[in-house]
Amino acid sequence: MTVRFPYRGWLFDLDGTVYLGEALIPGAAEVIAALRADGRRVGFLSNKPLQTREDYAAKLSRLGVPASADDVINSSLVLARHLRALDPGAPVFVIGEPPMLAEMRAHGFEVRDDERVRWVVIAFDRTFTYAKLNTALQAVKQGARLIATNPDRTCPVEGGEIPDCAGMIAAVEAVTDRKVEAIVGKPSPIILEVALQALGCPASESVIVGDRIETDMVMGRRMGLATILVLSGVTRPDDPRIAALAPDHVLRSVRVLIG
Ligand SMILES: [Mg+2]
Repeated sequence: MTVRFPYRGWLFDLDGTVYLGEALIPGAAEVIAALRADGRRVGFLSNKPLQTREDYAAKLSRLGVPASADDVINSSLVLARHLRALDPGAPVFVIGEPPMLAEMRAHGFEVRDDERVRWVVIAFDRTFTYAKLNTALQAVKQGARLIATNPDRTCPVEGGEIPDCAGMIAAVEAVTDRKVEAIVGKPSPIILEVALQALGCPASESVIVGDRIETDMVMGRRMGLATILVLSGVTRPDDPRIAALAPDHVLRSVRVLIG
């Protein structure tokens, strides 16, 4: 099996590209194996801060794509690295779930559950409450700044969708009358910079493979990577945005990356 494209660095979106829910996209395991056998660099990108990188790596491995935590870049890791560069060790209040809090602690932040913080970190949080919203408000009134993981309005789940981080961001912005200073997940260049650094490849030699035009393709284009849109996820073949954005390649699925 040979890889049909010359790029050295390969960044794969996960849901809709490598797997759909709990099912691997047919051919994905063979494609990743062929890329690695050919000496290409492979990384996986996710906007979801709900699971740890270890969880994603375990899921990929279970589905037949051997992966380690270092192969996975998600928005919680990116936020922690980005904020560590801006304000290392800062006290933070996190609207988020335990893996998000753990990532912040692992990067040296003082995670507090009161308003005596310099940053309010907003993530996808299925345990979001009035009490958290109030702490965020009081923190901002005392000068705390706002930063968030991902801009997604909803998160696809089996049989439909559930509210994602956009809901938490909107609630905090509404009551504080402040805007978040950065949303680090796709389509922000911040997540791509972290990912390219992890890959060890420049944008000019790298490609992003994904199923979402408004995140994967827009971000790749903005940052000068090649773009491969796969139609195995949310984008329908007759979507008019495909012609407008003109990804470098539009493929039925990752299966046809090798031949
Ligand atoms: Mg996707």
